[in-house]
Amino acid sequence: MISAPARFLFAAARAAGETALELLYPPLCMSCGKRRAEGFCDACLMEIFAAPAPTCADCGRLLRAPGIPCKDCRQTEFAFDKARGAARYAGLLRALLRRFKLGGEIHLARPLGAIAADLAERECPRPDAVVPVPISRRKLLARGFNQAELLAESVAARLGRPLFPKALVRLRKAGKQAFLTRAGRIANAAGLFAPKQPMFGSVPDFSGKRVLLVDDVITTGATASACAAALRIMGASEVDALAVGR
Ligand SMILES: [Zn+2]
Ligand SMILES: [Zn+2]
Repeated sequence: MISAPARFLFAAARAAGETALELLYPPLCMSCGKRRAEGFCDACLMEIFAAPAPTCADCGRLLRAPGIPCKDCRQTEFAFDKARGAARYAGLLRALLRRFKLGGEIHLARPLGAIAADLAERECPRPDAVVPVPISRRKLLARGFNQAELLAESVAARLGRPLFPKALVRLRKAGKQAFLTRAGRIANAAGLFAPKQPMFGSVPDFSGKRVLLVDDVITTGATASACAAALRIMGASEVDALAVGR
């Protein structure tokens, strides 16, 4: 136990140390590493958010021409109410998300989480619960972290809403998604997620609650929809899905 004055001195010394360190080494853009920035620099952000395209009002899919609902929404009954991505999953954003997820650059969780939190503030500012899309146990062991959980932490912290990091569990390994047709992918994902039965306590009750589901990327919407279906089993009356890339 540190006494209060000692703790204050310790905090002050640490703050001074951090300031001195920042003067010596000003933070650089975590994307390009060239320009000074907290998180991403303006040039990189402009590249990420370049050329906003019209998107489907229901699933957030990029459209060639505005039209509601989009082809995917006409063909599929998604279990979420709406899905949104902050920016197009391509180019620099795709590279950054891959560096974060596959390259283990865990420090990218903060600036990417800020992008997710900005979107959440605009699209779903008052959820009752924030839930990340779970990854398989095997991936979790190999990677050491669930990228969606780190992003969901940022979202929950910004909105000041409760985070349920372990509400869902991935039941089994998905089939080879890449070789399936779109309809096949959605069928493959259905039944992949379930409420996680905790060792102690009980499964969270989302009865009548508005749940915000967070992932790094939404592509076909199949994963988000399967998670939303599991959240509805837990009682959720509304599920919005949000990702950095779409
Ligand atoms: Zn940059
Ligand atoms: Zn759509």
